[in-house]
Amino acid sequence: MARILLAEDEERITSFITRGLTAHEFTVTSVADGREALNNALYGDFDLLILDIGLPTMDGFEVLEQLRGSGSTIPVIVLTARDSATDTVAGLQGGADDYMAKPFSFDELLARVRLRLRDRSTGGAGSSPILRHDNVLLDIHSRRVSVDGREHDLSAREFSMLEMFLSHAGQVLSREQLLSGVWGYDYDPGSNVVDVYVRYLRQKIGTDRIETVRGMGYRLR
Ligand code: CA
Repeated sequence: MARILLAEDEERITSFITRGLTAHEFTVTSVADGREALNNALYGDFDLLILDIGLPTMDGFEVLEQLRGSGSTIPVIVLTARDSATDTVAGLQGGADDYMAKPFSFDELLARVRLRLRDRSTGGAGSSPILRHDNVLLDIHSRRVSVDGREHDLSAREFSMLEMFLSHAGQVLSREQLLSGVWGYDYDPGSNVVDVYVRYLRQKIGTDRIETVRGMGYRLR
């Protein structure tokens, strides 16, 4: 199980990322301050750091600089403000491995986290690359889906929705959980996009695989 250090001072984003990563079986420790982030990254036992640039006491650039200056090779994904190409370039030059421009969807972040953990080690870290339930198989690396031995082409949203269902097989997922898991924290809570995508998925993987639980949400059978 991979351990992730999250340095972010905006509570809403911290809880959004923590909830999502925890649901995908990562262990998350969050700090809201640059100095604490640096100490934890240097002396804690973490596999990856998600680092916001705008942090109190020491900003993300300085954390990164000191971290790399101390010889740490921990993978770092920086979170940058929207449209801040300068932050992005500076972050990557300063030793970040990847970046996410805010706002981002959880799915994008998860893909990058997995990629960085995979680059770092071929064994152990991260979650299993194949998710499976009955005859539904989803390969996270190649992003292929097969149902009863037949391959299906899924769009990015369909894929991440199915991924959520497979990681919570048998459990009811509410519209809100699906919205925030697949579309991120910027979703419109009144949107019917979840129902639309469930319909698309049913057309592809079989109508009766995703059950409607009245008043609650959907469940993978
Ligand atoms: Ca911030």
